[in-house]
Amino acid sequence: MLRFAQTCEAIGASTRKNEKIRLAAEYLRPLEIDEAARAAVFFSGRPFARREERVLSVGGALIWQTIFRLAGRPPGEMESSYRRHGDLGAMTEELLRGRSASGGVSLSEVAQAFETLAARRGPEQKLAALETLLGRAEPLVAKYIVKIITGDLRIGLKESLVEEAIAHAYGQPASKVRRANMLTGDIGATLVLAAAGDPDSARMNLFHPIGFMLATTVESASEAFGEFGGAGLMEDKYDGIRAQVHKSGEKVKLFSRTLDELVEFHELYAPLAELPGEFILDGEVVGWRDGRALPFTELQQRLGRKTPDLWLPLEIPVSFVAFDLLYLDGATLMDLPLSERRPKLEQLLAAGTAPFVQAAPASRCASAEETQAAFNRALERGNEGLMIKATDAPYTPGRRGRKWLKWKQPLATLDVVVTAVEFGHGRRHGVLSDYTFAVRSGDRLVNIGKAYSGLTDKEIAEYTSYFLEHTVDDQGFRRIVEPALVLEVAFNNVQRSNRHESGYALRFPRIVRLRPDKTPADIDTLETVRRIHERQTVGNSPG
Ligand code: AMP
Repeated sequence: MLRFAQTCEAIGASTRKNEKIRLAAEYLRPLEIDEAARAAVFFSGRPFARREERVLSVGGALIWQTIFRLAGRPPGEMESSYRRHGDLGAMTEELLRGRSASGGVSLSEVAQAFETLAARRGPEQKLAALETLLGRAEPLVAKYIVKIITGDLRIGLKESLVEEAIAHAYGQPASKVRRANMLTGDIGATLVLAAAGDPDSARMNLFHPIGFMLATTVESASEAFGEFGGAGLMEDKYDGIRAQVHKSGEKVKLFSRTLDELVEFHELYAPLAELPGEFILDGEVVGWRDGRALPFTELQQRLGRKTPDLWLPLEIPVSFVAFDLLYLDGATLMDLPLSERRPKLEQLLAAGTAPFVQAAPASRCASAEETQAAFNRALERGNEGLMIKATDAPYTPGRRGRKWLKWKQPLATLDVVVTAVEFGHGRRHGVLSDYTFAVRSGDRLVNIGKAYSGLTDKEIAEYTSYFLEHTVDDQGFRRIVEPALVLEVAFNNVQRSNRHESGYALRFPRIVRLRPDKTPADIDTLETVRRIHERQTVGNSPG
C-alpha cells in the first residue's frame, strides 16, 4: 500500500492528464491481478466498487476521534492542522508523522479492513477497527486510507482516468474498457477483464445506475428540424424528475440523474414490478392528474420524503413516463439505434398499468412547420417543450451530444451553481443568504451573478450550515464554497460586464428553485449565455 500512496502523491503532483494516466498505468501493470483490481477501486476514490451497496458509515467525527486517540495531540493542534490542510487525509498524515507505524499494511489488508468496517455496527466497534488499521499504517498510507474513506482522493484522478490507465496498462482500447466499466459498475472487475484481453465479455450488472444520455439546447423549429430532417423522433419534454428504473423479478429501484436512489415514489414499484422480464428503463417521473402533467412545483412537494405517506400519492399522483429501454432480458440494447429500441419499449409497456407507467408518445418530424405545431401542442398540454431525437442514434450514457435535442419555452432561466456565499443584512443577518453563482466554460466555472436568496428562512438556515461545512476558503464576510448546489435563476436580461469573470452579468437575477436533481456538470454554459446576449442585441427579448 505504500507504493500505492506514493503513486497517488506523484499523480497529485502532476498537472497533466496524460502523465497521471501513465503513472497509474505503470503502477498497475506489474501488480498481481487481484492486487491491481483492488488498487483500481482505491484509485477511483472508493472503498468498494461503484455497484456495491455496501457503505462504510465512517464519518468525519469518527476519523477525528481515531486520530485523536492515535496521535495523542490536543484538539487545538488537530484543528489548526485541519484548517491548514482543509483535508482530513492530509491532517492525518501530519499528526501521525513521527509515530512509528508497526509494520505497514498491504492493499489486501486495507481491503479486508474496509470489509470489517462496513460489517461492524455502531461507532465504538468501527472506531476500534479503524484504530487498528490506521495504527499499523505508515503516515502516508494513513493519509490515503482516510481519503478513500471520505470518498475523494483529491489527486485529480477521476474514474474515467482510471479507465484510461487500465487501457494503457493492458494494451486495450479505452472505449472498450469504458464500456465494460459502465456495464459492470465495477472498476476492479473491469481491470480483470482488460488484463485478460477480454473487455467485450463484460455483462450488465443491474441495480447500479448507468449515466444518463443528455440533450443539447436548440431554440427554433428550423434548428430542431434541420438537424435530422425527417429522421427525427419528437416527444414532449416533461417537467419532472429524470429516473432510471432497474427491475428484476420483484425487485425495482429508481435512480436519479445524480445516480442516487430515488425512494420517494413508492406507488410506482408494484406497477413496474408487474411488467414482464428484467429491464432498465429511462424516463421521467411526472406529477400526473386527469391525463396530463402537473407543474413541477407540485411534484417537488414529494421530494425529500423518505417514508411512505398514505395521502401524498393521492394528493400529488405521479406517473413514470418512459422514453427509452437500455436493457432487456440479458441483452444490452444501448448500441441499437433508437428506431429499434423504441418498438421494444412500446411492446414492453403495452401491458403496463396506466397511469402509473406509460410510454411517452412519440411522432416523426415531417417538416419544420410540423415541429413547430408539435412544440405548441406540448406547451398546451402543460409540458416544457419538445425533445427531438435522432432515430439512428445509439444510447450514449453520460454524454451530452447532438443526437438528442431539447427545445424549451423561450429561455428565461439558467441553471447555475453556487460558488460563493455571503452573510445577509437585516433579517438575514447571521445567515448565509447572498449567493454568487457560476455557469460552465469548458472545465471551468465562471461567475455570472449574485442573488439574494429567494428561498424560505428554513431553507436558508439549512443551507447556511451546509455552506459552513463546505467552505473552501473563508474570507471573513465571504466564503468560497464547494460548487455543489445547483439553482435555477431567472433574470430580466444579460449584460456585458467586468464585474464577473464570465464577462457577463445577469440583470435582476432571482432564484426560481433549487435543482437538487442536477450536478454542476449539468448547468448551463457560457456559450448559452453568449447566445442569449446575442439574441437580445438583435432586438428579441429573451422571453
Ligand atoms: P434539461 O433538464 O433542461 O437539461 O433537459 C433535459 C431533461 O429533460 C432530461 O434530463 C429529462 O429529465 C427531461 N425530459 C423530459 N422529457 C423528456 C423526454 N421525452 N426525453 C428525454 N428527456 C426528457
